Amino acid sequence: MAKINENYLKLPGSYLFSTIAKKVNEYTAKNPDKKIIRMGIGDVTRPLAKAVTDAMHDAVEDMGSYEGFHGYGPEQGYDFLRMLIVENDYKKRGIDIAIDEIFVSDGAKSDTGNITDIFAVDNTVAVCDPVYPVYVDTNAMAGRAGDFGKDGRWTNLIYMPCTEESGFLPALPSKHADLIYLCFPNNPTGMAATKEQLAVWVDYARRNGSVILFDSAYEAFIQDEDVPHSIYEIEGAKECAIEFRSFSKTAGFTGTRCAYTVVPKELKVGGVMLNGLWLRRQTTKFNGVPYIVQKGAAAVYSEQGQKEIKETISYYMNNAKIIREGLACAGLTVYGGVNAPYIWAKTPNGLGSWEFFDSLLEKAAVVTTPGAGFGPSGEGYIRLTAFSTLDATKEAVERIKKILY
Ligand SMILES: *Cc1c(COP(=O)(O)O)cnc(C)c1O
Repeated sequence: MAKINENYLKLPGSYLFSTIAKKVNEYTAKNPDKKIIRMGIGDVTRPLAKAVTDAMHDAVEDMGSYEGFHGYGPEQGYDFLRMLIVENDYKKRGIDIAIDEIFVSDGAKSDTGNITDIFAVDNTVAVCDPVYPVYVDTNAMAGRAGDFGKDGRWTNLIYMPCTEESGFLPALPSKHADLIYLCFPNNPTGMAATKEQLAVWVDYARRNGSVILFDSAYEAFIQDEDVPHSIYEIEGAKECAIEFRSFSKTAGFTGTRCAYTVVPKELKVGGVMLNGLWLRRQTTKFNGVPYIVQKGAAAVYSEQGQKEIKETISYYMNNAKIIREGLACAGLTVYGGVNAPYIWAKTPNGLGSWEFFDSLLEKAAVVTTPGAGFGPSGEGYIRLTAFSTLDATKEAVERIKKILY
C-alpha cells in the first residue's frame, strides 16, 4: 500500500489569509456601500517597467522565428542574465561572485523551500519569530520540525524572537543551530540589519559550522547607506551563506516569476561543496525559467529599466512614509517602512493582533495583516504594506487616524 508523507498531516491549516478573506467577505456583505482598502497584501500593484515588457515582446518574436527560437535552456539560467547579475548586483558592490555560483529560478519562495533537499533531516533549524511562513512549513514537510505544539511552535525548531526590546533583530540561538534562516530587510517587521549586526551571524555560522540561508528579497528597498544589500558584503560570508534574491518585489515580477539563488563555491559542509549539490538538485528537478521571462529580467539592468524600477520603488517607499508618519501621528508605535515596504505597528492599549485587525476592518474598512499570523512573537502587532496606490494609502491612513483620535 502506498504511504503518504505524514509530515503533511502535522501542518496546521494555513488559516491566516483565508481567515482574513472570510472576515472581509462578511464585512462586505454587511456593508455593501463601504469601500474596503487593502493594506494587507504582500503583492505589488504597479505594472512591469516598459523596458521589461519591450524586451519580453522582442523575446516573443524570437521564439516565433527559426533563428531566435529557444527550447530547453540551461537549468541554471541563461548566461546573458547570470552575467548581468554578477556585474550589477555583486561586482558593483565590490563582491566577487562567479557566474556558476548564480542559479536563476522561478522564485525565492520555491528556492527557500527547495533548498532543504540538500540538507539532512536531522539538521537543527533556527527561524526568526515572526517569520515568513515558507521556511517553517517546508522544514515541517521535510520532517525537520517535529510536531506542532499548542503554543504555536514546532517542537524541533529553534525560535529566535524578534521583539521590540531587541529592535526586532534576533539574538543568537540558545541551542546549536545547523541551518539559520535570516531575512533582511525583513518581512513582516520591515526592519533592516546593519553590517555589524550581520557580522555577528557570519561569525556564529563559521564558528559552529552552520549555514545561513539569507533571504534578500527586499534589498532593492534599502535606503540607508549602512545597510548591506547582500550577506556577502560581510567578510567570510561566502564560506557559510546561501543568498536568495528575487525580481518579484524589485521589479514587479510576482506574476512573471524570476529569482535567483547564490551558492558560493567556498561554501562546504563536511568537505562537500553545496554548489555542486544544488546544481545537481536543480538540473534534476527543474527545467529553467522561460527565455521570455529571463529576457525581461535582463532588461531590469538596462539604464531605462533601472530608472523605471527605481521610480516604482520610490512610489512604494513614499507610501511607506505616509503610513509610518500617519500612524505615528495617530499615536501608534510603528516600526519598519524605512528600508522595506512593510510597516509593523504595535496595537494600541495592549489589544490582540486579531482584535485590532477586526477594529480597523469594522470601523475604518481597512484590511491589515495580524502579526500573530507570522508567529507567536507577532502577537500585539499588525503589518501594513506600502503596495497600494498613493490615494488608497492616504485614505487608509486618514481613516485610521479618525478612529484612533
Ligand atoms: C515576496 C517574498 C519573496 C519572493 O518570493 P518569490 O517566490 O520570488 O515571488 C521571498 N521572500 C520573502 C520573505 C518574501 O516576502
